[in-house]
Amino acid sequence: MLDNVKVVLVETSHSGNIGSAARAMKVMGLSHMVLVNPQCEVDAQTMALAAGASDIALNAQIVSSLDEAIEDCGLVVGTSARSRTLEWPMLDPRECGEKFATEGRKHKAAILFGRERTGLTNSELQKCQYHVSIPANPEYSSLNLAMAVQTICYEIRVAFLNQEAAQYPVASVDEYPRQKELELFYQHLEKVLVNTHFISEEQPGQVMNKLRRLFSRARPEVQELNILRGVLSAIEKSGQNK
Ligand code: SAH
Repeated sequence: MLDNVKVVLVETSHSGNIGSAARAMKVMGLSHMVLVNPQCEVDAQTMALAAGASDIALNAQIVSSLDEAIEDCGLVVGTSARSRTLEWPMLDPRECGEKFATEGRKHKAAILFGRERTGLTNSELQKCQYHVSIPANPEYSSLNLAMAVQTICYEIRVAFLNQEAAQYPVASVDEYPRQKELELFYQHLEKVLVNTHFISEEQPGQVMNKLRRLFSRARPEVQELNILRGVLSAIEKSGQNK
């Protein structure tokens, strides 16, 4: 199950952090690191800080966009030191660990970490089903990137070990759509909303963001998303017949 977990680092700028994150992952039994548009090389500093986990950094998958990193995932969770303007379904680190341990049995799941200086952007966070925040000192809540990776990977491991120990009659996991299907649905929805003049292309406002949040909260299953796509197609068809 841990093989299905991807640790995604977005636009990391310090090569040492990639090494430390690799080490943080390996000690917790995770191996799949993805670097989205890294702002540094995987270099000697990376290797020094990775110590025995240099294989994780060397084998890290490098991609140019976040979409590419998560398109095959059935669960995407974003980490953030502070809550943003838009409220989102939240998990605490423990609940996050449990979600990955459970859903990782069924499909690929990604945990996203942001840039050292600015974290994840709102639009990146809006691609996630959940956000997780490590409840740190409110006056100084921003952990070093690799330490945040360590904390979350630890929770995933603990949840995994607990489930193994309890030999859970593996709770059935609903069939969730992959991130790519979700993005196609949002594109389709936006197209219909623009064509029906519910939103204007020039001034879309916050409607799409709020709808993304709504669907993240509801977390439609594969069949439900198919129904929604069908509804959109029916609306398009009836518009053409007028
Ligand atoms: N100033 C940035 C901090 C970035 S720290 C901000 O406000 O978002 C770099 C990354 O470490 C973050 O993007 C996040 O992935 C992770 N991180 C740091 N502190 C965290 C915390 N308290 N909870 C969850 N993730 C955290």
